Amino acid sequence: MSKADIISLEPATGAEIWRGAACDVDDVVARARRAWPAWAAQPLTTRMELMRRFANEVRKEADTLAHTIAREVGKPLWEAHAEVEAVVAKVEVSIRAYAERTSQRKLDSALQGKMALRHKPHGVLVVLGPFNMPCHLPAAHIVPALIAGNVAIFKPSEKAPASGEILARCFNRAGISAAVMQFAPGGPAEGQRLVAHEGIDGVLFTGSANTGIAINRKLATRPDKIVALEMGGNNALVMWDTPKLADAAALIVQSAFASAGQRCTAARRLIVKASLYDQIIPLVKNLADRIIVGAPFDEPAPFMGPVIDNAAADGLSESFLYLMSNGGRAIKHLQRPQGGTLPFLSPAIIDVTAMQDRPDVELFGPILQVIKVDDFDQAISEANSTRFGLAASLIGGTPQDYNRFWANMRAGIVNWNRATVGPSHAAPMGGMGLSGNHRPTGYYAADYCAYPVASGEMEQPRAVIGVGLKS
Ligand code: NAD
Repeated sequence: MSKADIISLEPATGAEIWRGAACDVDDVVARARRAWPAWAAQPLTTRMELMRRFANEVRKEADTLAHTIAREVGKPLWEAHAEVEAVVAKVEVSIRAYAERTSQRKLDSALQGKMALRHKPHGVLVVLGPFNMPCHLPAAHIVPALIAGNVAIFKPSEKAPASGEILARCFNRAGISAAVMQFAPGGPAEGQRLVAHEGIDGVLFTGSANTGIAINRKLATRPDKIVALEMGGNNALVMWDTPKLADAAALIVQSAFASAGQRCTAARRLIVKASLYDQIIPLVKNLADRIIVGAPFDEPAPFMGPVIDNAAADGLSESFLYLMSNGGRAIKHLQRPQGGTLPFLSPAIIDVTAMQDRPDVELFGPILQVIKVDDFDQAISEANSTRFGLAASLIGGTPQDYNRFWANMRAGIVNWNRATVGPSHAAPMGGMGLSGNHRPTGYYAADYCAYPVASGEMEQPRAVIGVGLKS
């Protein structure tokens, strides 16, 4: 492999799906800078219309795109189709969000003047995508960025360039030029060079906390650059009294094991009221035992596929062993049904109540840690016992319990009797602490894609100085 080659392998088979040269960062940025003024000068309605054409192109490519996502990141085909639908839905959500949050407003001001509030694009924005939703999450930045009049440089995850390339093609076929929405394949090295490039105006990032922190540090002395960081979580589910235990178990399993646990909002920790433990844990385990782990196109359809690669599977296996050898008690072991050759993992559940120091890290895979507590205050305190703050859910409990939970949980998504996963992009989507930098995406992406300009305006100068002058 030459130094610049990016190679993407299918997790479920090990076969190569994409190979290509990494982009030339200087060229990419220069092309974006040249393209920006003309794009920003287009009427807003034109840019919106082009986004609707993009949605149509995605609809036309839906099957190819879903198949490619499924092959490239290993998720079941049904789930890849859901991701494609989310990309299409993103367009109308972003158009509405632009109009509501960052459109032009005019207010009367003194002396028959006007006060105008308008928004301007930043310029050239770099979008760095993660592997786990290789189209939906980059599109969640790109679409609002383009609507607002920015040009986008899209560097997909090096683990998902094939999916990213089709997404980029849909933009380009819709009539958005390959300079306005540039596909820029590359790995962390290209990501670093893009972030550090003088010619960019901002970075819209979705990925791990470590990378987000590195980007934040790199741009710490550059307040002139907009930086939106969507990072991971160590998300908690709190299980309290409910007569609907089977439904609760289903919510827990969905939250922990959807996408083989490779969702930023996946539940990593289940905090259970002690008196419910012996009822709910067997239900969760039985359901997890029934989960079909398989390749994306298997019949019957699997619930979850492999994790992204062997390095991830090895890391998760080591983490599970670490938990076991430091006081954790396995309720359901983490297994590798295909040995070390392919990164399939079984869903795993481990009771870590007895552990002295639980590592506050995001285990990005199908491992659920269980903690038993005696009262609701302890449950909230456990749930908040993390540097992350992305998603949290209360299952069961009274309305009063939920009020307390909502008021005390430090997270950007706080749910009641809903899974932690699958947040609506028609709402803001982001978190606190190590999960984000207070620039949520989803409905609020419009906010970081444009900056407000306030203007006091009069058609003619009109002023007198009423005090403090010599006669
Ligand atoms: P990652 O951080 O490894 O990579 C994300 C992107 O950053 C990739 O394009 C990568 O090439 C690039 N990159 C890596 N190092 C870089 C550097 N030093 N400078 C600039 N760019 C660099 O993340 P991943 O493993 O692809 O994705 C999984 C992570 O993403 C998980 O932590 C997950 O929780 C998080 N995530 C967050 C959200 C959210 O909305 N908050 C959504 C999905 C995933």
